[in-house]
Amino acid sequence: MSKNSLKEEALHYHQKERPGKIEVIPTKETANQRDLSLAYSPGVAEPCLAIEQNVSDAYKYTAKGNLVAVISNGTAVLGLGDIGPEASKPVMEGKGLLFKIYADIDCFDLELDTKDVDEFIRTVKVLEPTFGGVNLEDISAPACFEIEERLKKELNIPVMHDDQHGTAIISGAALLNALELVGKDISKVKIVVNGAGASAISCTRIYVSLGASPENIFMYDSKGLIHPDRTNLDGKKSEFINGQVPADTSLAKILEGADVFIGLSRGNVLDQSMVKEMAEDCIIFAMANPTPEISYEDAKEARPDCIMATGRSDYPNQVNNVLGFPFIFRGALDVQASEINEAMKLAAVHALADLAKKPVPDIVDMAYGDINLKFGKDYIIPKPVDPRLITTVAPAVAKAAMDSGVAKFEITDWESYKEELSK
Ligand code: NAP
Ligand code: MG
Repeated sequence: MSKNSLKEEALHYHQKERPGKIEVIPTKETANQRDLSLAYSPGVAEPCLAIEQNVSDAYKYTAKGNLVAVISNGTAVLGLGDIGPEASKPVMEGKGLLFKIYADIDCFDLELDTKDVDEFIRTVKVLEPTFGGVNLEDISAPACFEIEERLKKELNIPVMHDDQHGTAIISGAALLNALELVGKDISKVKIVVNGAGASAISCTRIYVSLGASPENIFMYDSKGLIHPDRTNLDGKKSEFINGQVPADTSLAKILEGADVFIGLSRGNVLDQSMVKEMAEDCIIFAMANPTPEISYEDAKEARPDCIMATGRSDYPNQVNNVLGFPFIFRGALDVQASEINEAMKLAAVHALADLAKKPVPDIVDMAYGDINLKFGKDYIIPKPVDPRLITTVAPAVAKAAMDSGVAKFEITDWESYKEELSK
């Protein structure tokens, strides 16, 4: 599709019929006066009084438990940057659409006109009674770290900044499987992370949780290696200081013998000569969107032995957050989890990694033109259309919430829960 026709089609898609992509639909019958007197006054007073007596009855009598707020201030939207709250709204509506179609979760998208961290936090805090969960979205670093950390502490409902953790979870699963395929031990591999922003920090944290050794990780931002001699480290960069090589070691030099390259920076910063120096069976996750750090074609031509992943749907191994957030929130909401903790994120990683190793249903192959997907270098993570995602990832997350003591509701019959999810 040419750039112009995509532009026209996309604008028409958003504009046609009722503008935008989402609407609110009543879930109860409203056919007659009786229905209305139950839905609203006088009947509505009964659930109000019940909830006044017992606040957790809000989960029983209102939509709270299935309602997620998708909240942004439009400061880091897709690869478009700080385009403002109104301009971020199509993305937030899109997120709501994905929550709905993949996990039947309802969303209100909220675009906040503030860059002030305290005001942002205060605003979300007072909204807590309305929602079962909060998906923070497209908020720039370093503000996103403080906003999420403080909201997690101060709210009693799950909060997740998807740009950080979604990517971490999906790429973590991809990394585990890629390493398994090439027979390398995560604790021993040399990992170069290019980028030190929201997604890079969170991804690297999860790789460490999965067993990667911090001394084997070399992280770069736009100014160079994150090194003890650096005096200009903002955000969370200092978590990944590594002083084992000189501060001025170039990206090309550090890639010599590296097993893994993680790109969460910007397009075209890697060339063929650099990846040629990487270790045998190297793993290249070039995830800058829409243009990866190195193109799939260039990477594969220079290194036919590599395992390559990108953020793009037109190449194998797409690291796509939609594999995670709908199902992570589904699991968290279904046990009324008070947070999305490390155990739940790691459960999602392992559920995704394991699912990729199972035989792929025909319906998934068909969606990709009958390509006979099989666990291997070109298929290390499940595809977004895989109907087993919801019945695999959501229960794993729900169970981890229960086991780690953050669930307010217990699932006991897992088979009927999975059956319910697959409807
Ligand atoms: P971010 O918070 O703005 O971070 C970008 C980081 O890249 C910053 O640390 C920046 O350095 C660094 N950087 C920029 N140019 C660089 C260069 N030439 N060499 C080394 N580092 C460089 O953005 P983000 O949200 O983490 O996203 C980063 C990229 O990953 C974007 O392209 C985004 O689309 C992509 N991404 C993809 C996925 C996916 O595939 N599913 C998910 C999330 C993000 P400074 O700190 O010095 O400015
Ligand atoms: Mg995002």
